[in-house]
Amino acid sequence: MFKIFTTVVVALLMLGCGPEKNPHVKSGMFQSVSENEATLVQEGPDKRYCDRCGMDLVKFYKTSHSATVDGEKHQYCSIHCLEDHLGDGVTVKNPQVVDVESLKFIDVNKAYYVVGSKKRGTMSRVSKYAFANEEMARKFQEKYGGEIMDFTNALERAKEDFR
Ligand SMILES: [Zn+2]
Repeated sequence: MFKIFTTVVVALLMLGCGPEKNPHVKSGMFQSVSENEATLVQEGPDKRYCDRCGMDLVKFYKTSHSATVDGEKHQYCSIHCLEDHLGDGVTVKNPQVVDVESLKFIDVNKAYYVVGSKKRGTMSRVSKYAFANEEMARKFQEKYGGEIMDFTNALERAKEDFR
């Protein structure tokens, strides 16, 4: 009796999946500014990084917020990380947001937020950019879409994003 043993060699083809080259250079992000354009309000060696998530505040500058909590200044990459801090039940004083146009901090209560435009957001698929000037907010909206609203409503949207 003869038995034929067939050895099947399975060759696994390694498909060329090298590290993908990202065509989007990070410094080309809409949120990013150069270091000398950014206002950093925190103290200490970590002043450049979001108080909650550690992201680079120069890179995510145009969505940055700041606030004083227990006499100490905090800076956040986005309304989301400010919202996260508020969730701890802290009392936040003088909350501010970067005005996309001037790159200066302004009172959140005087800001016009464009929510859900085509410009990518920070920590959220629904982007939120703030303007000191209503007309600038409208121009941005005409170009990139989205809805114009005040801080309270933008904050509500930020909460919804994580529900
Ligand atoms: Zn953050």
